[in-house]
Amino acid sequence: MPLQAVRPKILGFINEQASAWLVALVVLLAGLALTAIVAWAASDLYQQQLRQRFQLLVNERYTRLQERFEDQEQRLNSLRRFFVNSDEVSREEFDGFAQPLLLRTLAYSWAPRVYREQRSQFEQDVSDQGGAPFVIRELNSAGELAPATERDEYVPVLYSQTKSLLSAPLGFDLLAQPLRRSALERAQKTGKLAVSQPMQLVGVEPAYATGVLLVAPVSHLPTSGESQNEPYGYVMAVISIHQLVADGLPKPDRDNLMMQIVDTSDLHKRVLFESGTVESNSDLVGARRLTLGDHVYALNLRPSQVFEQANHSSLSAIMTMGGLLSLLLSALLYVLVSQRQRALKLVEQRTVQLRMREQELRAAHGQLRSVLNAATQVAIIATDLRGVINTFNAGAEQMLGFKAEQVVGTHTLESLHLAVELEARSASLSVALGKRIPASQAMLVESPDNLHEAREWTLVREDGSQLTVNMLATVLLDDHGLWIGHLAIYLDITEQKRAYEALAARDRLLKKLSAHVPGGIFQFTLEPQDNWKFIYASDGMRDIYEIEPGVLQQDAKRVFERIHPLDVERVRASIRLSALQLSHWREEYRVQLPQRGLRWIRGEATPEELPGGGTLWHGYVSDISDLKRVEEELRALSITDSLTGIHNRRYFQDRLRAEMVRLNRTSGALSVIMLDIDHFKRINDRHGHAVGDGVLQELCKRISQRLRRTDVFCRLGGEEFMVLCPHTDGEQAYSLAIELWESLRSAPMEPVGTVTASFGVASWRVDEGVDGLLLRADSAVYVAKQAGRDRVEAERLRA
Ligand code: GH3
Ligand code: MG
Ligand code: MG
Repeated sequence: MPLQAVRPKILGFINEQASAWLVALVVLLAGLALTAIVAWAASDLYQQQLRQRFQLLVNERYTRLQERFEDQEQRLNSLRRFFVNSDEVSREEFDGFAQPLLLRTLAYSWAPRVYREQRSQFEQDVSDQGGAPFVIRELNSAGELAPATERDEYVPVLYSQTKSLLSAPLGFDLLAQPLRRSALERAQKTGKLAVSQPMQLVGVEPAYATGVLLVAPVSHLPTSGESQNEPYGYVMAVISIHQLVADGLPKPDRDNLMMQIVDTSDLHKRVLFESGTVESNSDLVGARRLTLGDHVYALNLRPSQVFEQANHSSLSAIMTMGGLLSLLLSALLYVLVSQRQRALKLVEQRTVQLRMREQELRAAHGQLRSVLNAATQVAIIATDLRGVINTFNAGAEQMLGFKAEQVVGTHTLESLHLAVELEARSASLSVALGKRIPASQAMLVESPDNLHEAREWTLVREDGSQLTVNMLATVLLDDHGLWIGHLAIYLDITEQKRAYEALAARDRLLKKLSAHVPGGIFQFTLEPQDNWKFIYASDGMRDIYEIEPGVLQQDAKRVFERIHPLDVERVRASIRLSALQLSHWREEYRVQLPQRGLRWIRGEATPEELPGGGTLWHGYVSDISDLKRVEEELRALSITDSLTGIHNRRYFQDRLRAEMVRLNRTSGALSVIMLDIDHFKRINDRHGHAVGDGVLQELCKRISQRLRRTDVFCRLGGEEFMVLCPHTDGEQAYSLAIELWESLRSAPMEPVGTVTASFGVASWRVDEGVDGLLLRADSAVYVAKQAGRDRVEAERLRA
């Protein structure tokens, strides 16, 4: 199954091949986009909620204010009804009724209408009742209360109930003041409540000074037929706008709303009240209408900063959180994707490695199996720890006749061996190792003296026949070095044994042959780097060099120690030449042996080139000392006169030629003395040939005794002789000739008597050849003969 097919996508949707950076970027962008959408939706919702909350606040504020306004009206109406329903209201009754009504009202007053003619009576009555002087007053130009000027009608304040500490302006004529007067007139005209224009109240704390006067006309109960009675006075409430509107509401710094009350009936749209709160930037506006008496006030409400702060937008938080979350998610995905990719790459690498290992293992396993089965000449058998066979190769099948299926898992190694042999081995091992070795282990245990060496065993085939094998056993270890069994390798050595025996027989033959052949047989190599070596040396070599063949095989140079110093370089050179030219080697040389002394040896060998660059010789050496002696004897005979035993003519000529060569090279002296027996023919004739021979022998004896060691005495033929005298000039030679002449003639020779001879002496001259010298010697002899014989004649012939 291809690996690709089983790979899941990262988080179920991200392709593994996608770049981690790209994924992170896409996620970041998507996160930012989502954040923007959420922020937009949240902002929208926020605006809506803000508007709703604001409207709620506005409504609540409006309702509360309108209630207060209506409450003012109701309380004043109740006061009015109190007056309407009473015939006469005393100051105490007024106070008693009005006192509880004072709630957000500065004061309640009662002001009766007083006409011009009633004024003084009225002032008198009130002064009497109250015990204090009462005067109808008005504000003069200086702004102080002063007795009112003459008018048709007055409406002075008679009773006044207030909470203020400031005293009530009793007697103050309301008609004297235009704003109050206007309100009274409207109240009188409509018979309903009327409100004055905003005014500065008299006798009130400055903060509460702006206020209005709520006036209600008080008439007698209408009698039948009358629709409306003229009012006979007015009850009024002095209302401070600030007290009415602001008291009991949150302080400006805590208020959610910025409140403004505008008098709409005023042309200038005068602002009656404005809360001290700080306005916010919001564009929210709430507008309501408040009615008090016959007046309508505009109530304008705007959110304050407190409202804004209490309802501040979570947009930036959403944006921040969204941005951060996107960034976090993006980073997370980057890490996830890149780690996953890295992990996958690693897995892929490992998979490839594993697959390669698997292939290698498979190949190795296959190779091993092939090797096992290819080794048809070798039985390879492996066993587990119990000795039960688990591997039985083709070689084993062939060797033992069992099929692998027959033995694997059922047979033990022991069952394949000859039991008797195992028992014997077990017994000997037990003794050697000092502990009991069971027969089943005998073939696996190595004896201390025979480590790691193949042993011969006898195996039993399936058909019961036996075969001899060589066995090598090793311990099988697993990868962790734990012992898991044994491996036994068997080699059928029946053929090997047969071949070995044949070889041994041939060896014996060779040994016997070489023992009977005179001399030694050898194989000798000369390898590059001047390496001399005997590959084979027969026993005969021992006699030739008086060195053991084994020693020779180890060190061929020992031979050169035996060879005569005068011959050794020649022998070496000839071997090298034979190697160089691959020519037959043949050499005769002397050896100096410790026991037998000097011997002559002849060696012959045929070279062949070795593949490695050396040369191999097959050859023999023999002792030719006897041959050499015969040769020497023959050579001596060839230059010796057989009758007299002195050198013959050939030798004389060779020596003379050699001496001439020497003289031509170095100069010096050389002389010859020639002698011829006088009348020898007669001796032969008188005494016979044998006596003649005796005379010749006797002469040689006498002459030889007189000669120097360096002189060479030769018989030229018949009764003619020659003495060669190296390093001898003419005079020395003449003296010697005289000596020889005398030695001959001084004593007679039995039975012939005195024998004499004629002597001729000649000395070598520069640039003279052999013939010249001999001719002069011969001439000298001739001269001696001619002069009567029995004398010495020096050379006569001059060149
Ligand atoms: P002359 O004094 O002139 O030399 O006289 P001569 O007889 O010695 O000279 P001639 O040369 O005529 O004779 C030499 C003789 O030597 C002849 C020969 O029979 C004899 N003769 C040569 N060789 C031998 C030899 O080997 N043994 C004997 N017994 N006689 C020899
Ligand atoms: Mg002669
Ligand atoms: Mg003679």
